[in-house]
Amino acid sequence: MKTKINRREFVRNSALLGVAAGLTQATALTPLAQNKGSRPLVVSSANGLRATQQAMEMIRAGADTLDAVVAGVNIVEEDPKDMSVGYGGLPNEEGDVELDASVMHGPTKRAGAVASLRHIKTPSKVAKLVMERTDHLLLVGEGALRFAMAHGFKKEELLTEEARLVWLHWKESMSDRDAWGPGLASPEGSSTSSLFKARPDLLALAERFRAQPPTGTINCLAVNERGDMSGTTTTSGLAFKIPGRVGDSPIIGAGLFVDNEVGAAGSTGRGEENLKICGAHTIVEMMRQGMSPTDACLEACKRVAGSYNHNQAKLAKFSINFYALNKDGGYGGAALFGYSLPEKDGNRRRSQFAVHDGKENKLHELAYLYEAPDKM
Ligand code: ASP
Repeated sequence: MKTKINRREFVRNSALLGVAAGLTQATALTPLAQNKGSRPLVVSSANGLRATQQAMEMIRAGADTLDAVVAGVNIVEEDPKDMSVGYGGLPNEEGDVELDASVMHGPTKRAGAVASLRHIKTPSKVAKLVMERTDHLLLVGEGALRFAMAHGFKKEELLTEEARLVWLHWKESMSDRDAWGPGLASPEGSSTSSLFKARPDLLALAERFRAQPPTGTINCLAVNERGDMSGTTTTSGLAFKIPGRVGDSPIIGAGLFVDNEVGAAGSTGRGEENLKICGAHTIVEMMRQGMSPTDACLEACKRVAGSYNHNQAKLAKFSINFYALNKDGGYGGAALFGYSLPEKDGNRRRSQFAVHDGKENKLHELAYLYEAPDKM
């Protein structure tokens, strides 16, 4: 029997759980995008407005939903300005860009993924080829690269000059017990700022990334007019990671899950947390039980919070977002926090996601568990 959990009950339950967990601040929920849904529909993380536009245009022209979302995220993968995805992504601790991606095709119930893939700008395309041209699901590292080259991909340098400078600033700032960075005889002391003589505009960004190595990813989900669904998640992962580190993005059930009978879900943010709760699969299962996409995403956030016994000081140290759509074209998304920490200009940035509902392509606010990390 299906259990229907409506939003009012969910909020009440959340509040009760909050009290039980000793939360000092009421669980704040934004007005939610609870909608009946419309098809076709495309949802993405906030960096994906160009992806949702591209995917919607292709779906309207009759393309398969997976071809559409992959073409959408390819725009971001190939954009050197997005330092969290594909070409131009921030590298691992040794300065090598390592990419992870997954795809899932609802109608044929298939999936493919690559992890720790170097030298290929568009790992989502390689993940799709793993799905289509192998009897495996996940290829990693050197094997994934050789597989891509067998399919005609050319090895390319993915580290842009901007990403190299940001990485080198981090590398030189890591320790005064190694030899990286200006030495004892340097007239400028140990400051690394001379790295940015030719690019002074990058110093503030590099410093922000040094202080808190960023994550960042694009997840894109789509449902077409017939109710067929697909999704993809692609990322350069956590900046300055240990070589070989793999996050949630290429793990089916964590960074991405699609069930063509129910819905699709994905995640961006600290992959280690999502891996522990299998977020995307959890969300799809919650939707199967009757939860709306928004409430199911909030449930995933609550489970992440539960991994730290709702310890707010610890939760404030990372961010994680979930996105979902259902077969009817209903959609939603949720974050642990409604706002970022105050940025350079002193303002907080609202946690958002991108939605193309066939009429408008725009950013929407994510629902959230807690207001802002510094207000906890
Ligand atoms: N989830 C990605 C990872 O952990 C990074 C991110 O989305 O920010 O690799």
